Amino acid sequence: MSAPLRIAVVGAGPAGIYAADILKKAAAEHGRETFIDLFEQLPAPYGLVRYGVAPDHPRIKGIIAALREVLESGTVRLFGNVRFGQDITVEDLQRLYHGVIFATGATKDAPLEIDGIDLPGSHGAADFVSWYDGHPDVPREWPLEAKEIAVIGNGNVALDVARMLVKHPEDLLPTEVPANVVDGLKASPVTDVHVFGRRGPLSVKFTPLELRELGELRDVDMILHDEDFGVDPDEETLKQNKQILVISRVLEQWRQRETGQASRRLHLHFWSRPDAVLGDGRVEALRVERTRPTEDGLEGKGEYREIPVQALYRAVGYFSSPLHDVPFDERRGVIPNIAGRVHDGSRPVPGMYATGWIKRGPVGLIGHTKSDAKETVEQLLSDEHSWWSPEDYDADAVPALLAERAVEWTDIDGWIRLDDHEKSLGEPHGRERIKVVPRDEMIAVSRDQR
Ligand SMILES: Cc1cc2nc3c(=O)[nH]c(=O)nc-3n(C[C@H](O)[C@H](O)[C@H](O)COP(=O)(O)OP(=O)(O)OC[C@H]3O[C@@H](n4cnc5c(N)ncnc54)[C@H](O)[C@@H]3O)c2cc1C
Repeated sequence: MSAPLRIAVVGAGPAGIYAADILKKAAAEHGRETFIDLFEQLPAPYGLVRYGVAPDHPRIKGIIAALREVLESGTVRLFGNVRFGQDITVEDLQRLYHGVIFATGATKDAPLEIDGIDLPGSHGAADFVSWYDGHPDVPREWPLEAKEIAVIGNGNVALDVARMLVKHPEDLLPTEVPANVVDGLKASPVTDVHVFGRRGPLSVKFTPLELRELGELRDVDMILHDEDFGVDPDEETLKQNKQILVISRVLEQWRQRETGQASRRLHLHFWSRPDAVLGDGRVEALRVERTRPTEDGLEGKGEYREIPVQALYRAVGYFSSPLHDVPFDERRGVIPNIAGRVHDGSRPVPGMYATGWIKRGPVGLIGHTKSDAKETVEQLLSDEHSWWSPEDYDADAVPALLAERAVEWTDIDGWIRLDDHEKSLGEPHGRERIKVVPRDEMIAVSRDQR
């Protein structure tokens, strides 16, 4: 029997956890025992499932139960609050493992280069998402002083952000939304949220489920504009896509609805390309240019209008961060790879693999990270000749290394403690959980140091 395979996985989001699970099972099929260690920079696992998916999407949060099973299976160790590149390095990993799978996802906003985008009052969606999902590394206060708000983008994140901004916060109460977020949203004077997409209503990137939800918001009117419809070329072909057909029906229904009674409004604007953010010292308006379809895409019509807004959120995509001593494609924001095998431009880098959003860019749902992981694991298992040659196995080597560096790591027992604690905070209020937000408090609860 061959020696056990030792692999480090960096990032305990869905991609990292699925990769660990698939690797363990696939290696077992080859008669190979595995030791897998998961390193996660946050004191809690699950990546964007905990810190990206909106709190009013509890069904998606349910995926956490399946991910937790992997962490509790006993064959994968979790080292939380350990940052790769700072607390642990490539050199350390080469000494301890046969290889590493990077699954560090994407946490930043992609840039939008238009005039005025840096004015106070202009925000990245990722920062706002991190705030309302209680990410420990963002400020606890969020400025919600605007009555009229623009959201730029036509994907699910744009809809999440728009929904969270316009929804009455009382309707969030049954969810796991942190207490400071509910208080912040209660103080918001918002009346109108405007969502802008460059293309037509039949070219949107959001899914029907997310769209439909908007129409169910209490005391919120959906506002659409007649001139945006009937412009998409070749509508019948586009509608052969089932999702697009459903989306067009939902939008048609809303166009027939009576409006005017609600205290808040959500406007969907299509064929509107953001041109500049205007304001004297802070956001006062968004200027958009009307677009029209061309044979091979889109062009501006030279018609501009200004929509008064006092805050603006750009939801034009996430972007990954480079990792120390690991190749990075600055343009695409990914670790360059072929089918999950890391490449430095001219050849594969031995022992290094990537999966999830850091592998293929920040698109796709949680389910896609599973097929991703499968492909990466297949490459890894077929590369035995090029794995690293680690020192003899010592189960205490990682804890000893982290202790030596004064890293306060958290493990699966710590996560279970924190998870139970959050649920117990929610229970008296009839809520599933109330998230603990400050990092030091998360660590104290996890390490039982209160
Ligand atoms: C706002 C938003 C809402 C979404 N809603 C949905 C939804 O409703 N349904 C759905 O199916 N999908 C949704 N998605 C998509 C889904 O979240 C992603 O498909 C999925 O999370 C990608 O998984 P990942 O593991 O690659 O990355 P992530 O989930 O980002 O996980 C990466 C992990 O790596 C860790 N990490 C990063 N750098 C380091 C480092 N240096 N050292 C150690 N650890 C590190 C991070 O802390 C994180 O935990 C949403 C995404 C966003 C942004």
